[in-house]
Amino acid sequence: MTSTQTVPHLIAGQDRLSDQGDVLDNVDPWTRQPHGTVARGTAADVKAAILAARVAFDDGPWPRMNERERGAILHRLADLMERDTNQLAEADARDMGRPLKAAIAVDVPRAAAMFRFFADHLMLSTSETYPMGRHYHAFTAYRPAGVVAAITPWNHPLMLGTWKIAAPLAWGNSVVMKPAEDSPTSAYLLAALAREAGMPDGVLNVVHGIGSEVGPALTMSKLIDRVTFTGSTATGRAVGQAAATNLVPVTLELGGKGATLVLDDADVELAAATTARAVFNNSGQVCLAGTRVIVHESIREAFLDRLVAYAKALRVGDPFSAETDLGPLASQKQFERVCGYFDLIADEGGEVLTGGPLGGWSFAPSIIAGTDPNGRLNTEEVFGPIATVAGFTNLDEAVELANNTQYGLTGVVFTESLKTAHTVAARMRCGTVWVNCYQIRDLRAPIGGPGNSGIGREGGNFSREFFTEPQAVFMATS
Ligand code: NDP
Repeated sequence: MTSTQTVPHLIAGQDRLSDQGDVLDNVDPWTRQPHGTVARGTAADVKAAILAARVAFDDGPWPRMNERERGAILHRLADLMERDTNQLAEADARDMGRPLKAAIAVDVPRAAAMFRFFADHLMLSTSETYPMGRHYHAFTAYRPAGVVAAITPWNHPLMLGTWKIAAPLAWGNSVVMKPAEDSPTSAYLLAALAREAGMPDGVLNVVHGIGSEVGPALTMSKLIDRVTFTGSTATGRAVGQAAATNLVPVTLELGGKGATLVLDDADVELAAATTARAVFNNSGQVCLAGTRVIVHESIREAFLDRLVAYAKALRVGDPFSAETDLGPLASQKQFERVCGYFDLIADEGGEVLTGGPLGGWSFAPSIIAGTDPNGRLNTEEVFGPIATVAGFTNLDEAVELANNTQYGLTGVVFTESLKTAHTVAARMRCGTVWVNCYQIRDLRAPIGGPGNSGIGREGGNFSREFFTEPQAVFMATS
């Protein structure tokens, strides 16, 4: 597929244009021009994809294969993704401005690794047995749940898309995937590679389109068994309500407003370098970002000097240039949204230490001091390269500031004291805490968080529990 063609749906193993033949522009956020079009899905397209997935699950070989056979296909898919690294990385770079070098170095390898991990996890996974004396024997069997609706965001299209589908596929489900309308290409390429890897038709289907148009047809269908969603809190709420119509279980990985705590005994250099990544990576379009920086007054100046220097050193530019660290924001909507937050700074008592809008849809890494902790900049998810900085003098105050949020996805702590690290981690109300590091992942560990950050956890056994129907089997043995 060249970048100027229409990105089709992939349903029942076939490339398909929309039921009505309609398309949407696919806009390159660096040139701000359409670089192609994408099929604009309809409810009929969604229905066709769900039926294909249903047939593949109810009558097809995928859920009936043994773990080794399914795992081999998933490993072959990972091999093919590695073979086509450049094409997959270019798709995300063109669709949403992800710097190509980062997509090649991080996103594609991590995406491929997810299929390898869940293929192996399936093989190595054990289940519980319940000894019941002489006459009975009981065990848990993890049966695939059925058809999974996976709705994915635009901020790391390939990586987060893969995160939503690798586990359900491994556990024998079939999937209907709905990528974000701003970043459709890598999902289509991935589904085409899955076919090439030998995945039976109908097991992985991709339907494009506008979320508000095709989303409800997917989430309210009586023919689906699970919904897994990553995106905004507002849409997550709507998705949860829709799925509740038929009592379909959902996991919602929603936004974040992570705190980065820099305690007085922190390694200031490590803290500044890591914080720059934690707040500016992918131009801040990361739900895990630690954008509320809370630093002890005794090291505030030294830390901020370094953080500002790191922010200024990041090169914002053409995603296809090897010089670029940060691309433009993913869309005009996203650029306007981030500018809207930047405009609040004076009203909320803040001072710009560095940053602000650049030309086009680009935005310089921004550090803002002194904003109202209860203002919008500190309580709402900006999803752009804007960090706020607050000071503190005692630990209770720091923890209180960190927990002053409706979200609860992540937190970062810098301290050289093991004891303090444990104490603070236990007091932070969030699903993931990083101590003296950022974005270290292990696919066995849970990801998700309380409050406006969503419902449920995924990863390792957490994914197994969600994407299967655990069944208790009791057998008479005498
Ligand atoms: P959305 O939550 O609206 O989009 C996420 C996905 O949901 C997209 O595939 C979208 O499709 C789809 N969708 C939209 N409406 C529905 C619906 N009614 N039913 C089912 N699916 C639907 O996020 P936005 O793109 O509007 O981004 C807005 C903000 O959300 C960001 O600025 C950021 O704060 C947050 N966000 C958080 C993410 C995270 O990683 N947690 C990821 C993305 C956004 P479509 O693209 O066609 O609208």
